[in-house]
This record gives sequence, structure tokens and C-alpha cells, in this order.
Amino acid sequence: MSASRLNLAELDLSELETALEARGCERFHARQLYRWVYRRGVVDFGKMTDLSKELRSRLAMEFDAVTPVVASDVTSIDGTRKFALELSDRRRIEAVFIPDTPAMTFCISTQVGCAMGCGFCLTGKMGLVRNLTAGESAGQVRVLAAATGMLDHPFNIVLMGMGEPLHNYANTMKALRILHSEHGLAVSPRRVTLSTVGIVPGLERLAHEPLMPNLAISLHATSEAQRSELVPPNRKYPLADILEACRRFPLKKRSRITFEYVMLDRVNDTPEDARRLARLLSGIRAKVNLIPLNPAPGIPYDRPSDARVDQFAQILADRHLTVSVRKSRGQDIRAACGQLIVEGGVKKSAAQQMALLMQS
Ligand code: SAH
Ligand code: SF4
Repeated sequence: MSASRLNLAELDLSELETALEARGCERFHARQLYRWVYRRGVVDFGKMTDLSKELRSRLAMEFDAVTPVVASDVTSIDGTRKFALELSDRRRIEAVFIPDTPAMTFCISTQVGCAMGCGFCLTGKMGLVRNLTAGESAGQVRVLAAATGMLDHPFNIVLMGMGEPLHNYANTMKALRILHSEHGLAVSPRRVTLSTVGIVPGLERLAHEPLMPNLAISLHATSEAQRSELVPPNRKYPLADILEACRRFPLKKRSRITFEYVMLDRVNDTPEDARRLARLLSGIRAKVNLIPLNPAPGIPYDRPSDARVDQFAQILADRHLTVSVRKSRGQDIRAACGQLIVEGGVKKSAAQQMALLMQS
């Protein structure tokens, strides 16, 4: 790969048009290139048969389309497929295909590792290695859609893989722009859910985005003290401020904010926690997604019994909240929430992680 070639996977449609023009090519070829790369999964210019031979060789000299490479692809007994994808610097990320949820869903990563350090999450244990570029985030969808035969089908995207999307704001939003192009995969923002621990300035920026995804807030606790312990960024962006930002968030008609709540046995799963949660969410168009912990070695918490989860859910339902309990998918292949980690990731101390967070 020549360093002088421009990686078109990092360009949104208008940037690609400008780049083509600057190289003496017609702007309209950008749409054709988008169709090949995103709708047909073809990145080899030689195979783009509706372009003249001359243009194809010219493009091959000027551009490339860097694409994550499937390093492994494992299918769980429940049909969930976990992909390990290798990036151009040999770092690895994970992305998951979850069929029948009821829609087809791709769960993609936004960072290699994560700086937030939540105590129950394996990705958090890695620390932040680096941000993904926009092309790498969008590239996961391109690669998974091609590998699962979904290029011509509607699918949902959840930003719930490795990383904190609002800690890599600009690249994540650019990836959504690239995926939204009608000449490419044409993914509507209504089909995208961004899950975040609640970086308040990021939430405020998101509220003004023209392409606004659905919002999921990882809450996990009902008091500032407990949340600061489980979700360290709460020390900088407290629960009260996050809920305030949620109250102001401009929701579309009939849409609601999802509040995710990882249930840790006898830590945050008492009836009192459930009652407090209902009180905190009053006045917000909310639904709650309970996620019984996916336990893992090195995670100092347990999964509560089904009876405790049901009791918690019932208390919320009695207070007129819509509640769902997340079925754990792909646990046998470690593709479930919080179980995405790539061995050998750079481990940072909790202090280093907090320092990184504070700089952002
Ligand atoms: N960083 C973002 C998105 C990725 S994590 C966020 O935290 O929202 C996606 C979801 O998986 C979050 O709700 C997270 O709390 C949850 N999760 C993390 N570790 C988990 C575990 N061990 N068991 C169950 N859910 C977990
Ligand atoms: Fe990062 Fe989300 Fe894991 Fe927390 S739960 S460490 S924010 S990936």
C-alpha cells in the first residue's frame, strides 16, 4: 500500500467528490465508487466494471480503500457471529452480528479498548489503546454486511462493541455520515443506537446533530456514590447532570431514551435500587433495558438470580416504565456485552485511565 494513495474509506461522499476533482476526475464517479465499496463490498478498482479501464488504473494509482480484515469469525450456538477484525496497524477489534433481535443487528466498536474503566466490563480492563477512524468504524459494517449476506437487507447498528462512542465523537459521527449516504448503505439514523456512559458535553453536541441516532445511556446505579464506583467517569459527569441532559434531549416523536442497567448480584439489584431508578427517570421518556451481568474471570461481580431480576423488573413495570431484560447472546463465544476484549491489549492503571479521560 503506497503512503501517497488516498484512503477513500475515510472520505464522506462530498470529500470524495472533491478529491476526485482535485485529481482531474469527474465528481460523479464518487457515487459509483460508493456503490461499489458500500453496496457491493468491492474495493478492488479492477473489478469495477462500469468504469473505463483507463479510469480504473488511474484510480488504483491515486486511491485505495483500506478495509478491516476478518481475522476470525466464530458462530455461537444461538446464531450470534463474533468477528475479530484486523486493522492496518495490526490492532484488533471485535464486531458482532446478532440475527433476529427481531431485526438483524450489527454491534460495532468505536475504539480499540476503552478509557472509562467500568468495573464490570472486560473492554474497560484493556484501557484505551486508540480511537478508531471513521473509515474503520464504518468499515466494520461494510465487512460484516458482506460476510453475512446483508448488503441488500435492512439492518440495525448498535454502537455497543468496544469503546465509548462519545469519547471518539468526531470520528463516530463521521462514520454515521458515511453509512448514511444514499449511494452507499443508506443506513437511516433511526436504525442506529449509540450507547454511552454519558459524557455530558458529547450528549449536548449530539442533541444538535442533523443525523441523530437513538440514544442509550449506560446508567447502572442510582446514587452518585455507587455510580462513581462502578462507572468512574461519573466523577466528572455525575448522574444528576446526565439526567438533566436527557431531560433536555430533543427526542423525535414516539422515540424514547433507553437506560441500560447492568445488574450485579447484591450490589445494585435491590428493590430499593429499583424504586430509586423509577424515581430518577420520572419525567423522562424512558425505557429500561436490564442486563444481567455476563460474568467473566477478573470481574469481581456475580450475575443475579432470575428471581431477583424479575422482582426488579416488576417494580419498574408497576411504576409504568417499559422494561426489557436483555437476553445474553453468544456467551459461549464471549460475544456478549462487555465480553469484547482482544488478548494482549495494553493494560493501563485505573489512574492512567482517569487521566486520559480528564484530558478529553
Ligand atoms: N461504552 C459504551 C458502549 C459499549 S458497552 C457504554 O458503556 O454504553 C455496551 C453495553 O454493555 C453497556 O451498557 C455496558 O454497560 C454493557 N456491559 C459492559 N460489561 C458488561 C458485562 N460484563 N455484562 C453485561 N453487560 C455489560
Ligand atoms: Fe467502556 Fe462501555 Fe466498557 Fe464502560 S462499559 S468500560 S464505557 S466499553
